[in-house]
Amino acid sequence: MARLNQADLNDINRSFEDRSPLEILQWAHEVFGERIAVLSAMQRAGCMVCHMIGQHKLDIPVLFVDTGVNFAETLETRDRLASEYALKMITLAPTQTMEEQTREFGVLYLTPEGQKKCCQMRKTDPLLQAKGRYDCLIGGLRRAEGGKRGNVPILSIDPQMNCIRANPLANVTDEQLKSYLAEHQVIVNPLHAQGFTTIGCNRCTTPVLPDEPKRAGRWRHLGTWSAYCEINPTDRDGGLSKWIDLPVDLIDRLLGQKSDFAI
Ligand code: SF4
Repeated sequence: MARLNQADLNDINRSFEDRSPLEILQWAHEVFGERIAVLSAMQRAGCMVCHMIGQHKLDIPVLFVDTGVNFAETLETRDRLASEYALKMITLAPTQTMEEQTREFGVLYLTPEGQKKCCQMRKTDPLLQAKGRYDCLIGGLRRAEGGKRGNVPILSIDPQMNCIRANPLANVTDEQLKSYLAEHQVIVNPLHAQGFTTIGCNRCTTPVLPDEPKRAGRWRHLGTWSAYCEINPTDRDGGLSKWIDLPVDLIDRLLGQKSDFAI
C-alpha cells in the first residue's frame, strides 16, 4: 500500500478538465474494475450518471443510502432506475429506525448540533458500512451548484472511506444537465417538477421559490446553519486535508505512472 493525498491528483485533475463525463466514467471503470460504485441520492445529476452507466453497459453498482425518512418519490425513482436501466442497486441503511433513534436521542434534526448527529447516523455511518469494498465512489456533484461545490475537484480523496471520489459531472452546467435529461428522457425524481431543487430526507427538505438559492430548501428550519449533510468529503471543512492508502499498482494505474517504491 502507498499513501495518496489530494495534491497527488493535481496533474490528472488538470488533464480531466477537457474530458467529457462519459470519458471520465469509462476511465474510472477501466482503472478501478470491480472496486467502483456510484453513490446517488437519486437527484437529477445522479440520474444522469445512472443513465450513462445503463446506456453504456458499464456494469457499475449504485449505492443508495435509505435514511428511513426519504420521500416515497425518491424510493420510486431508485426502483425505476434500477429496473429500466438494468442497474445493480445496493441500498444501505442506518442501524436504528427513525423511531428507535428518536426514542433514544429525541428529535435531533431540530437543532444544528442534532442535525449533524442525525446526518452522521442516518447517512454517513451507513455509507461507512461499505468501507473497504470500493476504491472509487462516483458522485454527481457539479460546480454549477455553487456554494461548497463551486470548486469541487473531478477527483478527490475520501479519507473516511479510504477511497477516491470521482465527480465526472463537475463541469456540467445547469443547461447541459437539463438538455441531457430532456434529450434522453432520463427518469428523474418527480419532486424536481414540484419546486424541489435538491432533495434529501422528507423531514429536512422543502421546495424553493424561483428567486431563492438552490439549497435554500435544505434544513430551512435551521436558518443558515446547515446546508450540507457532509456525506461528501468535499463539503466538509478540511475534508481533503489527510490522505488515503491504496495498493501501489492501483496508484500507478490511477496516475498513469510506474512507481518503484523499493528504491
Ligand atoms: S437530512 Fe434531516 S432527517 Fe435526514 S439524516 Fe439529516 S438531519 Fe436526519
